Amino acid sequence: MTLEQAIEVLISRYNSGVIRSRTNDDEWRLATETAIAALRPTSDPETGLVPCGCGGKAKVWPSEPTQFTHVITDYEVGCTECAMTTGWVRGKQENAVKVWNTAMGWKGGLEVDDD
Ligand SMILES: [Zn+2]
Repeated sequence: MTLEQAIEVLISRYNSGVIRSRTNDDEWRLATETAIAALRPTSDPETGLVPCGCGGKAKVWPSEPTQFTHVITDYEVGCTECAMTTGWVRGKQENAVKVWNTAMGWKGGLEVDDD
């Protein structure tokens, strides 16, 4: 089960009438809400990257542009705190973002474009 799937199950059970009819325990409800929030990493609104597992901020590095056409062909995502990186990921920046977020347990709904 991925983190995304765990979150969906918790939210679904939490919102279901079955659970609500069984408890009026406000502390349990607060604990569930806190657990759901902790499972769901917040992606950076600018980069779309979730934080590293160490808690460090992730950053995107573009490859050197090609010599004649000046095209960036690869991107790498790495943590600014530890040595974790995706390695060079071919194609658009979004591909490297998806690789990083998937490795951190969260896809965030991005789709890889193989171009
Ligand atoms: Zn890190």
